[in-house]
Amino acid sequence: MNAREPDSSAQPVAVIGAGVVGMAAALSLQREGRSVTVFDPEPPGEGCSLGNAGIIAPYAVVPVQTPGILWDVPGMLIDPLSPLAVRWAHFLPLVPWLVRFARASRPSRVDAVSKALASLLPRVRDAWKDLAGEAGTAGLLIDGEVLMLFGSEKGWRDAQFSLDLRRRRGVPTEEIPAAEALRLEPALAPVFVRAALIPDLSWCVDPLALTRGLAGRLRALGGEIRAERVRAARPRVEGGAVLETDGGASAWDDVVLAAGAWSRPLAAMLGAPVPLGTERGYHVMLDHGAGLLGRPVNLNDRGFYMTPMAGGLRCAGTVELGGLDAPADPRRADAIERQARRLLPDAGGKLSDWIGFRPSMPDSLPVLGPVPGRRGVWLNFGHGHLGLTLAATCGRITADLVAARDPGIDLAPFSAARF
Ligand SMILES: Cc1cc2nc3c(=O)[nH]c(=O)nc-3n(C[C@H](O)[C@H](O)[C@H](O)COP(=O)(O)OP(=O)(O)OC[C@H]3O[C@@H](n4cnc5c(N)ncnc54)[C@H](O)[C@@H]3O)c2cc1C
Repeated sequence: MNAREPDSSAQPVAVIGAGVVGMAAALSLQREGRSVTVFDPEPPGEGCSLGNAGIIAPYAVVPVQTPGILWDVPGMLIDPLSPLAVRWAHFLPLVPWLVRFARASRPSRVDAVSKALASLLPRVRDAWKDLAGEAGTAGLLIDGEVLMLFGSEKGWRDAQFSLDLRRRRGVPTEEIPAAEALRLEPALAPVFVRAALIPDLSWCVDPLALTRGLAGRLRALGGEIRAERVRAARPRVEGGAVLETDGGASAWDDVVLAAGAWSRPLAAMLGAPVPLGTERGYHVMLDHGAGLLGRPVNLNDRGFYMTPMAGGLRCAGTVELGGLDAPADPRRADAIERQARRLLPDAGGKLSDWIGFRPSMPDSLPVLGPVPGRRGVWLNFGHGHLGLTLAATCGRITADLVAARDPGIDLAPFSAARF
């Protein structure tokens, strides 16, 4: 699709949040000839979108809350370094989210969630190629496969539910001998017992540059990014909303809320109280010289990926439930680094580490669509582990909705009213 020329009579749209999700929606709207203003006190792409593992993952049809996960909660509390951990000090405020998370882990619900994800995921690579092409950043995306490694037979057995669910959703997964994995990636140490290849994905070698590219193209097409926090949002009877920012109040016929993990209070003000929480994740960047890995590698039992990126090898993942305010636990980044070095003994020095806040709904589905019962107020947040994967697709769907076009997908599973 080609972008239209800027048009002074274009209908204005406000987008709250300049992460990859907000910027993808903003550019999708702007290139259709809308006049888009994005509000964010931070520069584009510097929230959760900065530090992810970079995988655009059409295979990600398995929610976080698999059946039986409740039995893991005591272990999550006892071991603060486990791949999925809960911070004791934050346990009580987390209980309502955890209860919904547990409810969503019933087999029938997991199946329904997986089907809903599968309705979006086949579109994600084409949507990204189109949007990154528009922004001139398609070169940041590499097509390839992910190599999954399993450190123990127990880890392999535990993964069977997910592997089977993927197969049922038509995701090709090829189990390969561990020796074949070592042939594909000779820098790996033989510290795993099983391996599998998942083809047909893309990965991004610089997620921050990807979002900055969207922002640059938005501006080139006449869109605006204002460094202002939206402090309050009031829906209007005639549709749209009034936004109060550091810069004053302004009225909009169409507003898109895409403020990632911080969307909850604004969603409630706009008439959509939703149980949005956060799954904190970490990354460590290691020097990988001329490149130790030829493809992303997932250490399945430790819950993280190692992705070769422009700025080094990014070892990113794990889940820590602990809210938005608690400081980072440096031991978690250290644990990722230790595991990465065990697997890749030739990895170079540590370059940096990072914590990010995934915007996570307890059922692993984003909130996408209108605020029920209101006109001109659109929701696009809560993408959890899949914000990069889904951003271009959900941005396009949002542009369809604002233009009153049928997005060609059943949005009921993503409704804010599902809880
Ligand atoms: C370790 C880790 C690895 C990951 N790996 C992957 C991966 O490989 N593939 C994948 O698809 N996903 C991955 N993810 C998830 C992905 O990064 C997130 O889902 C995605 O970045 C969320 O994007 P967002 O735009 O919704 O949020 P953010 O990037 O956090 O952006 C939200 C923006 O809203 C702004 N904001 C907040 N409040 C306000 C306000 N009141 N007014 C205005 N602006 C506001 C913030 O400043 C921020 O810029 C990973 C996440 C982590 C933590």
